Amino acid sequence: METLRLEAIHRRYKQGQATIEILRGTDFSLYPGEAVALVAPSGAGKSTLLHVAGLLERPDGGEVIIGGRPTSSLSDAERTRIRRHEVGFVYQFHHLMGEFSAMENVMLPQLVAGLDKKEARKRAEELLQWLGLGHRGTHRPAELSGGEQQRVAIARAVANAPRVLFADEPTGNLDVVTAEAVFESLFKLIKATGLSALVATHNLELAARMDRRITLRDGLAVEV
Ligand code: ADP
Ligand code: ADP
Repeated sequence: METLRLEAIHRRYKQGQATIEILRGTDFSLYPGEAVALVAPSGAGKSTLLHVAGLLERPDGGEVIIGGRPTSSLSDAERTRIRRHEVGFVYQFHHLMGEFSAMENVMLPQLVAGLDKKEARKRAEELLQWLGLGHRGTHRPAELSGGEQQRVAIARAVANAPRVLFADEPTGNLDVVTAEAVFESLFKLIKATGLSALVATHNLELAARMDRRITLRDGLAVEV
């Protein structure tokens, strides 16, 4: 079964007097353990697609199905609950909490989801270890390199063992070599956990190494 299914998604925005339709009946399926690249020019609607699929925005039409569960008729509270447990996000900038350590940043979403502190710490330690940051747990984000910060952000995004990871230009702010290393970590994680991921990227070399590639053409998702 798909971990994520988009059915005929529409999303419009008002811009001044005009209304633009960014997603125009988009269909897309993501299967367990799959890493799919989303490659399209700026303004094509990549972020919009990720936000709608990740339940951050409601579509104007169509259905987002996560883990077999349609979400359109759910309340905001129920959507938030699904987002916390079944969906993870990574952005171009890490958005880590500056006053907290790497470890605490990875523990936080777990505590919010109701896990006890000991369990959350254990999971955070394992994840950081696994991403090659075992020695960085006590460091604050400002004390980490760009690549390390992104790895912590990845650990935080998967801390609650989501079904789907959405990444919006996760290596966009990194130099080529660091981007490569962060991507490797991300890919390893996907393959080891059976997590599925949809990754918007401008990096065609990295996109080429993922399982599938889609683009957005006239508001529709097309395999490329
Ligand atoms: P991409 O991620 O591919 O660069 P986006 O999804 O960010 O594209 O944006 C697609 C288009 O929708 C752009 O023209 C953008 O300006 C517009 N857009 C995105 N969000 C909003 C919004 N909240 N209000 C109005 N226009 C928006
Ligand atoms: P992020 O990728 O972290 O969401 P963005 O800069 O892409 O950051 O967008 C920040 C917010 O602004 C998003 O909620 C997006 O939908 C919205 N947005 C993007 N483009 C526009 C636009 N042209 N007009 C209004 N809102 C927009």
